[in-house]
Amino acid sequence: MKIESFLSPNYYRNKRLTNTIKIIVIHYTGMQSERESMLRLINPKSKVSSHFVINRNGKVYRLVYDNKISWHAGKSCWGKYKNLNKNSIGIELVNKGHKFGYTNFKKKQLLSLIKICKNLIRKYKIKKQNIVGHSDIAPLRKIDPGEKFPWKMLADNKIGIWHHLRPSFLKKFRGIKIINSKDKAKFAKHLNKIGYRFTLRKKSSFIKTIKAFQRHYRKELVDGYLDKECLIIARSLSKNL
Ligand SMILES: [Zn+2]
Repeated sequence: MKIESFLSPNYYRNKRLTNTIKIIVIHYTGMQSERESMLRLINPKSKVSSHFVINRNGKVYRLVYDNKISWHAGKSCWGKYKNLNKNSIGIELVNKGHKFGYTNFKKKQLLSLIKICKNLIRKYKIKKQNIVGHSDIAPLRKIDPGEKFPWKMLADNKIGIWHHLRPSFLKKFRGIKIINSKDKAKFAKHLNKIGYRFTLRKKSSFIKTIKAFQRHYRKELVDGYLDKECLIIARSLSKNL
């Protein structure tokens, strides 16, 4: 596929071994325009970058080579990994984001993303459960790529994990709140197995992690409350890992 270079200075100069690449992190740019986003990602003062940017027309830019550590994830955890820049490839999708007018991702944009992901998965043998959103690995700070990102469509292309439960079945359990601590603990266990890192003791971090989970797996209602539908989805996902 055609990839245009638009190199950013925002990466660590040391090379990394490609066998340290374990995770793909998907972001949105969250700025007014493509131009503004690109300028920020190559501005040495911003200290942020990513490996790839995909614009609304599906055009792909390379900002940082895979064997270099780009600065896109920040403070983050996933499974046994911490501060994921060193273990990941970051992909930015141009989208104004929640602040400036969050819109659906474009079909062409997603087709390019699927192609890049397939390449990366093959090249670096990335596990299905390690294809995540920025909000999954940093739920206390981040909400991108957000609830409009079509994770199920990606999973249909063998990118990332999904469940096989019927939407009409799941819907019956939406909004039925779970308050007993035994079920909460079960949910936490499932999420930990999937990769989310958090503690039940801190209420605010639990709420934000539930929201991150909902943005990814139950976008119809992102309210931060644990309900039966979320528990059923989490159980199904963790059982199939
Ligand atoms: Zn991000």
